[in-house]
Amino acid sequence: MWQTIGQTQIIDLLQRAFKQGTASHAYLLTGPPQVGKMTLALDMARALNCRSEAAQRPCGVCPACKKITEGKHSDVQVLALNQNGSEDAKEKTEIGIDLIKGLQHSASLPPFEGDYRVYIIDEAGHLSLDAANRLLKTLEEPVGKVLFILLTANAGSVPLTVISRCQKLKLSRLKTAEIEKALIERWQVESEKARLLARLSHGCLGWGVNASKKLDLAAERSAQFEKMLTIVKSGYCERLAAASQIAQQFTKKRETVYETLDTWTGWWRDILLAKTGCNADIISVDFESGLVGLAGAYNLVQIKSVINYIQEAAQQLKQNANSRLVLESLMLNIPLEVQHA
Ligand SMILES: [Zn+2]
Repeated sequence: MWQTIGQTQIIDLLQRAFKQGTASHAYLLTGPPQVGKMTLALDMARALNCRSEAAQRPCGVCPACKKITEGKHSDVQVLALNQNGSEDAKEKTEIGIDLIKGLQHSASLPPFEGDYRVYIIDEAGHLSLDAANRLLKTLEEPVGKVLFILLTANAGSVPLTVISRCQKLKLSRLKTAEIEKALIERWQVESEKARLLARLSHGCLGWGVNASKKLDLAAERSAQFEKMLTIVKSGYCERLAAASQIAQQFTKKRETVYETLDTWTGWWRDILLAKTGCNADIISVDFESGLVGLAGAYNLVQIKSVINYIQEAAQQLKQNANSRLVLESLMLNIPLEVQHA
């Protein structure tokens, strides 16, 4: 049984290829963060190494499937940025050549306990140039039963030479109803919470599942919302201090800052909806009154500009611009004067 929810066309295509023995040696899975790329990659690894005799592979319960799920199968390896990083360590920004050298060596050996060696490279856009070139050599001369699965949210960040060696599979966002159903049925989330999380997840089931496991999700979201309100309502000095604090956070854990900016974008979209009278479409229904309040304090042009500024800041951070400068300019760009429409 495939653990992946939705993505039926991709699963059909892979099942056919695996059955007919026409699988590619390398796949590039693209799609937004937490849409299910890793789950699909592990499903592929299970499908190729499953020990079940049944027609439906992967079975999910044989020793091979279980080992892969638990990360203990010797032929299935996941490579990622900051694989062994501690919470306090500065984040690595590249997947270095050493990891790829190790991979290259083991990929030349026959599978140890399964049918296929499977290498999953998460965030493949972070391969260093040396590492990408080294990987390219391996992809150019595929040997035996080896499968490479590269994952990225941004195909533009992977060198074209590498992409040209891979079969591209684009995962799409799930429908809100699909996510709601999955959260209730597979993760036993109670229905009201599942409904909110499904709306907040923007089609990315992984986000919804992670959020559902946070015991203090409501408190965390309230704290985040309060923080944004404080920034909006404070003067330049406080805003610069907030920028510096977020920039420090960025050097330690980039993903948290991207998530914060994503959340802010969502809120300002909701403020825009409230401003235009489309309250029924507001996604963060848990903050509706606060969002409507902000909608009353800004005019339409200001609200649109804030959304643009937040998105530009996120984009610049992803392009490795100076994080402190980017965040300071974002803070100063959020309109200070409260004007009524
Ligand atoms: Zn199995």
